[in-house]
Amino acid sequence: SGESPYLCKANPLPDRSAVVSFEDQSRLEGSELMRRDFVANISHELRTPLTSLMGFIETLRGPARGDVDAHDRFLGIMEQEAQRMNRMVSDLLSLSRVEVDERVWPRDEVDVSAVLRSTIATLEGKLSDSGIAIDAENLTECFPVRGDRDQLTQLFLNLIENAIKYGGGDKTIHVGVKKVQRDQALRQAAIQVDIRDQGVGIDPIHIPRLTERFYRVDDHRSRDLGGTGLGLAIVKHIVNRHRGRIKITSEQGVGSCFSVILPAVG
Ligand code: ADP
Repeated sequence: SGESPYLCKANPLPDRSAVVSFEDQSRLEGSELMRRDFVANISHELRTPLTSLMGFIETLRGPARGDVDAHDRFLGIMEQEAQRMNRMVSDLLSLSRVEVDERVWPRDEVDVSAVLRSTIATLEGKLSDSGIAIDAENLTECFPVRGDRDQLTQLFLNLIENAIKYGGGDKTIHVGVKKVQRDQALRQAAIQVDIRDQGVGIDPIHIPRLTERFYRVDDHRSRDLGGTGLGLAIVKHIVNRHRGRIKITSEQGVGSCFSVILPAVG
């Protein structure tokens, strides 16, 4: 798929610490080499659970035939592997959808606070299961942007789910929204959403690559938590489509803050 015509608009941020703007790395994409890499990655990501499934089928037919305990255990694992493949395919479809949409700027006026409130509501079960509280700031005020409601929901869902997954010890996630009179990179008024956790944090060397497809800081951890490695790639494309930018600040052992900055209406 082609790249967005808006990608080169914003300047790289002057701050060179643990901050990255999407525009920087998007230029690297689109090359044939990266496309080939992507196909190789997908094949590998899908083959891993598939190989495991085939192994268990063989075991159930052979050595474990008639062993009821083993049957239950293996079927449980097989179900998890099938669910992983299912998530992977869903994320791949979402990714290709937002990539196709990227050339069109969504026109509807959407209240970011309302999207955040409904996103948090859909996560209620997951939040109480993991004993995590959301500390919300300003979500009763209206902050309009031009946007695609479903994609913005997916964007915030991915970021809050990551904050839950990698949130670590302290069980509070901060979700705040505010208006910025003039965002330097966007060169206009903006709505900024901050999603902050007090979890494992990210070593700054990884930050510029986080939004690449299948890039994970800790492969095992991500897989154990059911990650596909595509969540932030989807986030990046949704933000691009909305002509916004994302800023990631993080400190290892302290926590991370993912800020989404979108052009304000008006
Ligand atoms: P995954 O499915 O692996 O979570 P993502 O694309 O959503 O994939 O994220 C890519 C990687 O970025 C993750 O594997 C993780 O290492 C890191 N990451 C994302 N969000 C956070 C966070 N809030 N705290 C620490 N690390 C994070």
